[in-house]
Amino acid sequence: MVVGAGPAGLFAAYELVSKRSAKVLVIDKGKDINNRKCPSISRFIRCRECKPCNILCGLGGAGGLSDGKLNLKSDVGGNLEEFVSKDEADDLIKKIDNIFLEHGASKKLYKGDSLGLEKTAACHGIKFIPIPQRHIGSDRLPSVVNSIRKYLESKGVSFLLNTEVKQICCENGFKIILDDGKEIETRYVLAATGRSGADWLNSEAKRLNIKTKFAPIDIGVRVEIPAVVMDSIVEHVWDPKFHIYTRSFDDFVRTFCTCPNGFVVMEDYGDYIGVNGHSITNVKSENTNFALLTNIRLTHPLENTTEYGVSIAKLATTIGGKMPIVQRLEDLIMGRRSTKSRIQKSYVKPTLKNATPGDISMALPHRIVTNIIEGLDKLDKVIPGVNSDSTLLYAPEIKFYSMRFLVDKNLETNIPGFFVAGDGAGLSRGIVASAATGIIAARGILERF
Ligand SMILES: Cc1cc2nc3c(=O)[nH]c(=O)nc-3n(C[C@H](O)[C@H](O)[C@H](O)COP(=O)(O)OP(=O)(O)OC[C@H]3O[C@@H](n4cnc5c(N)ncnc54)[C@H](O)[C@@H]3O)c2cc1C
Repeated sequence: MVVGAGPAGLFAAYELVSKRSAKVLVIDKGKDINNRKCPSISRFIRCRECKPCNILCGLGGAGGLSDGKLNLKSDVGGNLEEFVSKDEADDLIKKIDNIFLEHGASKKLYKGDSLGLEKTAACHGIKFIPIPQRHIGSDRLPSVVNSIRKYLESKGVSFLLNTEVKQICCENGFKIILDDGKEIETRYVLAATGRSGADWLNSEAKRLNIKTKFAPIDIGVRVEIPAVVMDSIVEHVWDPKFHIYTRSFDDFVRTFCTCPNGFVVMEDYGDYIGVNGHSITNVKSENTNFALLTNIRLTHPLENTTEYGVSIAKLATTIGGKMPIVQRLEDLIMGRRSTKSRIQKSYVKPTLKNATPGDISMALPHRIVTNIIEGLDKLDKVIPGVNSDSTLLYAPEIKFYSMRFLVDKNLETNIPGFFVAGDGAGLSRGIVASAATGIIAARGILERF
């Protein structure tokens, strides 16, 4: 039994039926990919109209409606080498890429470093991570997911969609209790519930005494610059990733989720807001945006990184009048707030129109603000122009990660037969890595047969 039809759940099912004729049922609380539509203006705003959210839930999982960037590297979006050897991890990535290709993913491969970026970055004390990337494309993704579903059904996999798992009971195997009160018995459970099911999975872990620990959190801003500044880079590397250690605090800062000719968008979590970015295939802006994030791990007396992140997000929401804050880099460095007229003087026209011009240093801790200023200063050596006075910064951008489940090499928890995979268990942060953990867990289940 697989809970969750995201990449982790689908690729686990793929492995289970391709190695032997296992009886596999995949349950998901969301809809079929063909029926997943988001009514909000920007598909990335977490509106509260659809329950469950069509962006995050349903066949294909989170990002099922996105443009689907595949990061084809074993230590990106998670670290597979925690569970398998480097060679096995590389084989897994190849296998996942081939499956996507068989089901219709674009043949174009961004090879990673055709520009000598690695060398330029290294000369300035920055690590560029060359990552082969494939871009499925929002127009292709639903047909790829449909094709995977058809293949799985032809191999005997059953899907139960629009059905939420409410409780998992351990009694001589497992009893799964569904939202309509029905019960299903199974010998093995693979919980692949993604971020949208992380809170539920956590509460089940507490109830069942499954061991977990807190994971780090990423906090920072979304940076917006004229697209021409990064054009020559993104032509070759769709989502360039740079790792930086900052001078004052020696903190780890990274670029994440570059959106060429994209838009900055607001995420609404109810009690607080955040920012994110996306690119739309048919509508291009004149800007490119990316996240610049500081990785934070906490120790005693507060290990709960989520609590820390939420308190920062709430402060930023208060300062921004319930909207994200936007500030020119020059204003941040000069220690003054941005105003509407100062933003108008910027050469970068904000793509998130209703952000509040303000002062990010009133919202984010001094340490994170220092990391942003020093990080951009270093990055400018590799991307000249990124550190311009006109560069816009939006806050808060916070990447909450799920509690990390303590698992063995087969991704089995301390409850025998209870396996986990993907983002919901804190084991991955991307399509390919979550799919890989699904396959590893499936192999663990097959070993137990
Ligand atoms: C808008 C957006 C764009 C993205 N773009 C990219 C990208 O370009 N490249 C990339 O690598 N990553 C991207 N990501 C991240 C990527 O989508 C996730 O890392 C990946 O989908 C995680 O896979 P998963 O299988 O672990 O979980 P998910 O894909 O989240 O799937 C989990 C599934 O479990 C279901 N579920 C949860 N709880 C229950 C329950 N109790 N009962 C039944 N079903 C349940 C959910 O409905 C969901 O369908 C994006 C994410 C979003 C939100």
